[in-house]
Amino acid sequence: MPVLTDSFGRVARKLRISVTDRCNFRCQFCMPVHPVWLPHSEILTFEEIRRVASLFAEMGVGNIRLSGGEPLMRRDVEQLVELLAPIPGVRQLSMTTNGFLLAEKAAALKRAGLRGVTVSLHSLKPEKFSEITGGGPFEKVIEGIKAAKANGFRPLKINAVIMRGCNEDEVADLASLAVEGDVAVRFIEYMPFDGQHHWGMNKVVSGKEIVERIQERYELTPAPRPAGSTSQIYKFEDGEGEIGVITSITQPFCSDCDRVRLSADGKIVPCLFDKAGFDLRPLLRSAGSDEMIVNFIRQALQRKAPGVETLLKKYQELEHIRPMHTIGG
Ligand code: SAM
Repeated sequence: MPVLTDSFGRVARKLRISVTDRCNFRCQFCMPVHPVWLPHSEILTFEEIRRVASLFAEMGVGNIRLSGGEPLMRRDVEQLVELLAPIPGVRQLSMTTNGFLLAEKAAALKRAGLRGVTVSLHSLKPEKFSEITGGGPFEKVIEGIKAAKANGFRPLKINAVIMRGCNEDEVADLASLAVEGDVAVRFIEYMPFDGQHHWGMNKVVSGKEIVERIQERYELTPAPRPAGSTSQIYKFEDGEGEIGVITSITQPFCSDCDRVRLSADGKIVPCLFDKAGFDLRPLLRSAGSDEMIVNFIRQALQRKAPGVETLLKKYQELEHIRPMHTIGG
């Protein structure tokens, strides 16, 4: 089957699937104070997700990441992993999680075929972590990371969202987790996907500043950026490890973007920054043929925006696009 392209000739290779919009944390940069959850009937079933993922894989989109909300809040999510892992063409299957349930689920996820895990950890100070995540218990997340190491997930990454006046002082400490090379750390610029509307350009700590802060402690060498990668990677001069900065605000890498998203309620979202989504669920639930679904996906991708900058012009200003838990990051 021909590969999946957009109208700018970019080829889609990576699919991010949000398996639920629900979350047990209340991260201040993401969740609204009183989230309104999707009704269960609107959430795609495992079988529906498997079908859509298979069709994506046939089009060469074989790198799948499960996200949320909190993906481990979706009951029996390991059964979904078991359905997705053997799909022909699925080359990588990973998950981004807040880590709360990871210690208890890691072995089952590994057995089911999950390969990579990213755990979000925005502070190394338990109280600060709890403040940022709206009560997230630091020790439990650390246990989750240890369980992920013990179960041999590769790649194993830590995501840290850095916000001005909050945790920028911890950048070098967080980077130190990556020196040995058994875990990589990704620093994410704060994006306008916050349910509480706290976001502002003055709260964004740029990737440049993040790297400079780390360089005060470690020597870093930039690595070539693989096509489609969201991050600029730097290797430690001493040590095996690496860190990366995801500069979606100050230096978005849109020209070779290879990602597409499927929301928990079945919308194809070609660009994270696009407010629009293309609702596939009616087709899925009205006996639409595989061919109709593939055509629907292809048409949605044809409407993918050229990049963040264009969308931002369209919205007049960079402002709260949607809470991240509704799309999965
Ligand atoms: N619940 C999981 C977690 O916490 O990792 C997965 C979903 S979460 C929406 C996916 C990633 O998006 C996390 O690493 C999270 O920190 C990041 N994220 C959420 N809101 C963000 C924002 N406003 N700006 C930048 N990154 C954000």
